[in-house]
Amino acid sequence: MIDPALWDLLACPCPAHGDVTHDANLGEIVCTVCGLRFPIRDGIPVMLLDEARKS
Ligand SMILES: [Zn+2]
Repeated sequence: MIDPALWDLLACPCPAHGDVTHDANLGEIVCTVCGLRFPIRDGIPVMLLDEARKS
């Protein structure tokens, strides 16, 4: 689980700084603008372009 307060702070590192949503099935963070997916490790979203993958 991710602390709900974290969601207000999360934004994609892409140029658009898109809002992100949680893909509960895959346990990933998904940018609603560019579609990049970021892993969650130990409950912490890893919002790094180096760690992202295309959906
Ligand atoms: Zn993005």
